[in-house]
Amino acid sequence: MKIKKFRSLSFKLTLWYIVILGGIIILAGIFQYHSFKDSLLDELDAKLLEIADETYETWYRKRGVSWEEAIRETTGKFPSYQPLIQLVKLQEEKGKKIKEVIHTTSIEEGSFLFDVRTYYRADRSDIDNLVYMTLSEGKLGSFPIRTILFPVRGPNIVQVGISLENTEFDLRRLMFIMILAGSGLMLLSSLGGNFIIRKALKPVKSVVQTAKAISTDDLSLRIEAGQRQDEIGELVDTFNDMISRLEKSVKKIKQFSGDVSHELRTPLTIIRGEIEVLLRKERDKEEYQKTLKSTLEEAAYLERIIDDLLFLSRIEALEKKEFKKLVQLDEILLKVVESQELAAKKKSISLDIKKVEPAKINGEEILLERMVTNLIDNAIRYTHPGGKVKVSLDKKDGTFTLLVQDTGIGIPEESLPLIFDRFYVVDKSRFKETGGLGLGLSIVKRVASCHGGKIEVESEVNKGTSFLVHFSI
Ligand code: ADP
Repeated sequence: MKIKKFRSLSFKLTLWYIVILGGIIILAGIFQYHSFKDSLLDELDAKLLEIADETYETWYRKRGVSWEEAIRETTGKFPSYQPLIQLVKLQEEKGKKIKEVIHTTSIEEGSFLFDVRTYYRADRSDIDNLVYMTLSEGKLGSFPIRTILFPVRGPNIVQVGISLENTEFDLRRLMFIMILAGSGLMLLSSLGGNFIIRKALKPVKSVVQTAKAISTDDLSLRIEAGQRQDEIGELVDTFNDMISRLEKSVKKIKQFSGDVSHELRTPLTIIRGEIEVLLRKERDKEEYQKTLKSTLEEAAYLERIIDDLLFLSRIEALEKKEFKKLVQLDEILLKVVESQELAAKKKSISLDIKKVEPAKINGEEILLERMVTNLIDNAIRYTHPGGKVKVSLDKKDGTFTLLVQDTGIGIPEESLPLIFDRFYVVDKSRFKETGGLGLGLSIVKRVASCHGGKIEVESEVNKGTSFLVHFSI
């Protein structure tokens, strides 16, 4: 599958990264813009207060100076601000009315006035609570005007205004710088983020490539995890472990099919060889009979292998929960012992039952019977004539234990871990003699495990072997 670029994880992560980063930058920008605007206005307000105070001081200090002169003088003192200053005299006559407004020629008549109530409110204000207002643009110029209403004796209000032209210019410049810097920052950090994300996801790519390159023919490939101790490292380790397990099971399957072919081929070759030799010339009756008997034996051997293999493949996928019926394991054991008595007697082996407790377990009778048969059959086959085979079924601590014990040839320690493998036989040279296919114990193990049983083996060469199968109740 080819992942489309906009569907890729790196694309999505980068997009998320940009969205979140963009959000943070915009929020930080808004905050920065407003705090800068507030500080500019605070500065301007302080200047307005200073100019208003200066106007009053000029008028008050120099007794005899008119308000017009004080206003003109103060205006000249702050040329860079070009303040608009006027004095509003509040006089009540037939209700509330402003009687007189004193200002310089820079202010057009009536254009720098608020309503009467605002002036009366300003008159009641104190130094901590002065009235600042913004006169919207268009009234007295092309920019809004920030204004202070400063109450002085009279009752009079000194009204000072400064155009917000410079402030707005500063704010626009800040906005421009912020947009430029923000975009640059976004671009750089998106590129950086994308680079980091790609770098972090690079091992995933190599997982994909390796996974694509892996086939059942070549499971030796592994992904380089390096020194990574992060989630990707964990993923790589897990993936490598999985490949190792796969490699092992594929190897087992290959080995198994090789073994099966080999095991089937040998008797077939023998059958063919014997028949070919037989057909080369005319033979007497005895010779025909001998060869036919021998080929029959080989055919029977083949049949046993195929039978065991079919049995194994049938029970391969069985699980304990599939067994709904309770079966009497003790009865199965007694039945098998009875059926094996003749074989034991033929080899002068004593087959004894030590103790059999009633044991009910969930299972399938045919399978359990096969398991017990294989164990007792092995015990008889691998015990010299005159030896002993003992069986018992015990109940202890919530567990039934089936024991098949013999005084036979024993199993070398190094072979113990292998005896349950398919086609494993300890001594190939004794193969024909004992007649083993190396499938009996694989069946025992599979039947036990699908019934939830656990097998234990104790063995000593030339002393004997004990197989124990534990079933928890
Ligand atoms: P086989 O059909 O050859 O008996 P199994 O799978 O039953 O195959 O057993 C595998 C090998 O384990 C046998 O070849 C044999 O060498 C060894 N083995 C099994 N049971 C016994 C036993 N009771 N005593 C000694 N060796 C045993």
